[in-house]
Amino acid sequence: MKKLVVKDDVCIGCGACVAIDALHFDLNENGLSSVISNENVETGEVITAINTCPVNAIKLVDENNEDSQKDGCACDNCEHCAHHENHEA
Ligand code: SF4
Repeated sequence: MKKLVVKDDVCIGCGACVAIDALHFDLNENGLSSVISNENVETGEVITAINTCPVNAIKLVDENNEDSQKDGCACDNCEHCAHHENHEA
């Protein structure tokens, strides 16, 4: 199972993802995008929203990845992710 993650420290609230796919994204009270549904996340609209985000704030992550579930991280290059990769290598 895949799930959507919006990194709110990266999102700039441009609203593009909401305009493309209002079934999965909405702007929250802080004016940043939030995931409002994880149903059918591998649709063309979701992929378009991911590819359209100007700051790459949207990730589609493996729900079974415990690290992604634990802290919502999907950046692949933060200290935590780098440590995890090094640990596995
Ligand atoms: S497209 Fe990206 S930057 Fe714009 S609101 Fe959505 S997640 Fe935020």
